[in-house]
Amino acid sequence: MSSRRDSTEEQKVPRKNSSRPTDATLCERLEEYVPIEEPKGGGICIFCDEYNENFTDENLISHNRTECPLWTKCRLCNKILEISTLDDNMLFDCDKYKFVKQCIICREIIDVDDYLAHITKKTCIAINDDKVRCPLCRGVIKPANEDGWNSHLLSANGCPKNSRKTKQ
Ligand SMILES: [Zn+2]
Ligand SMILES: [Zn+2]
Ligand SMILES: [Zn+2]
Ligand SMILES: [Zn+2]
Repeated sequence: MSSRRDSTEEQKVPRKNSSRPTDATLCERLEEYVPIEEPKGGGICIFCDEYNENFTDENLISHNRTECPLWTKCRLCNKILEISTLDDNMLFDCDKYKFVKQCIICREIIDVDDYLAHITKKTCIAINDDKVRCPLCRGVIKPANEDGWNSHLLSANGCPKNSRKTKQ
C-alpha cells in the first residue's frame, strides 16, 4: 500500500501556467517533448528543468520563490511569479497596479510618479506590439515564445539583469 503513495505524490508538482504558451508553441513543445525519466527520490523544476535529488513538492515551491531563474518577485506586491508574466501582472493583477503605468511608446512599466518625466524625456524607443520584452533588462525576447524566454533567462549569456542565473 505504501508504495502506491509515492506515485500519487509525484503528480502534485506545480503545473505550468497554461495561459502562457500559445497553441502554436504548445504544439511545438509537444512534438519535441521527450519524457524525462524521473530519477528516484528527487524532483525536477518544470520551469527551469533543474533536477535536484532533494526536491520535494514543498521545496520546489521554495525553489520557485528564491532560486528558479524563470521566477521573480513583483517589486510592487512582492508576489512570486514567472518573469514572462511580470509586466501583465503589474498592469492588471497586482494589488498595486495603480502605482504603475505602461509607456505607450516603449511599453515599459513605469512608476506613476516617474511617468511624466519618462514621457517628456523622449528617449524611449518605440516597440511593436508583436515584440515581447524582458521586464528585467528590457531586451527583446527572440523568438517571442517559451523557447525565447528559456534561452534569455537560463543561458549564461542571456539576461544581464537576472540575478538567479543557472549556476554553471
Ligand atoms: Zn526552477
Ligand atoms: Zn505585483
Ligand atoms: Zn517609454
Ligand atoms: Zn532580461
